[in-house]
Amino acid sequence: RRAAMLLEVTGLHVRYGRTHAVKAVDLHVAEGEIVTVLGANGAGKTSLLRALHGAVKPAGGSIRFAGDDLTAQSSAERVTRGMMLVPEGRQIFVSMSVHENLLMGAYLRRDGDWARDLKSVYDRFPNLAERRDMPASVLSGGEQQMLAIGRALVSRPRLVMLDEPSLGLSPLFVNNLFNLIKELNRDGISILLVEQNTAMALEVASRGYVLELGSLVLEGGADALAGNAALAEAYLGDH
Ligand code: ATP
Repeated sequence: RRAAMLLEVTGLHVRYGRTHAVKAVDLHVAEGEIVTVLGANGAGKTSLLRALHGAVKPAGGSIRFAGDDLTAQSSAERVTRGMMLVPEGRQIFVSMSVHENLLMGAYLRRDGDWARDLKSVYDRFPNLAERRDMPASVLSGGEQQMLAIGRALVSRPRLVMLDEPSLGLSPLFVNNLFNLIKELNRDGISILLVEQNTAMALEVASRGYVLELGSLVLEGGADALAGNAALAEAYLGDH
C-alpha cells in the first residue's frame, strides 16, 4: 500500500517573462518522508519552492497538499494548512528580537494554540532561549538558521521546505543542521530539502530529484543517486 501522499506536484511550470524557470515538474512527498531536490545554480530550485509556497503564481500545473488542491490558494492559506518554507538566506528580521522573530511563526496559526510549540522551540534550541530578548543580528549564521527553522516550527508544520539551508554554514553547523533535519523528521514532520550539498542531502533523504535548466532529469532512491557518479558531473557541477 502506498503511503499517504502529503504533497503532490503535477506538471508545474514557472515563468518570468521569457525565462522558463520550471518546466513540467512532477514530484511528490509522502507523509513522513525526507525528499531532496538537487541542482546547480540557476537550475530552478528556488523558483520551484517559491511556487510551492505561493510566492509566485505557476504558469501551469497543480499543487495538492494533504488531498486538497492548493494551486490557487494564498501563501497564508498554505502556511495555515501546514506547508512551511524556510527561505534561502533565512530571511529573519535582524532588528527584531529572537522572540519576536519566533512569534512571526505563530502569526498564521488558526488555532491560536502556539504557546506549546514556542516552548518546544526554546527547549530544542537553548542558544535561542538564552538570547530571547536580543536582536537577531547578534546570532551567528548557524544560530540564524536555527531561528529560521524555529520560526517555521512555531507554525506547527506538516511539511517543511528548506531552501539551501546549509549555504554559508561552517562544517560543524552543517552537521548540526542535517542532524536537526533528521530529528524533525523523526518527530513526524515531512521534509522537502533543496540543496547544493549533494552528499549531505542524499545522506538524510530517502529519495531525490535532480533539476537541470528547469526540468527534472533524474529521480530515484537516495542510495542509487549517491552511487551515480555521472550525476555529480553531468548536472551538479563541482563541490
Ligand atoms: P540558486 O541556487 O541560484 O538559487 P536556483 O536553482 O534556485 O538557483 P532559480 O533561482 O529558481 O534557480 O532560477 C532559475 C532561473 O530563473 C534562472 O535562469 C534565473 O535567472 C531565473 N530567475 C529567477 N528569479 C527570477 C526573477 N524574479 N525574474 C526573472 N528571472 C528569474
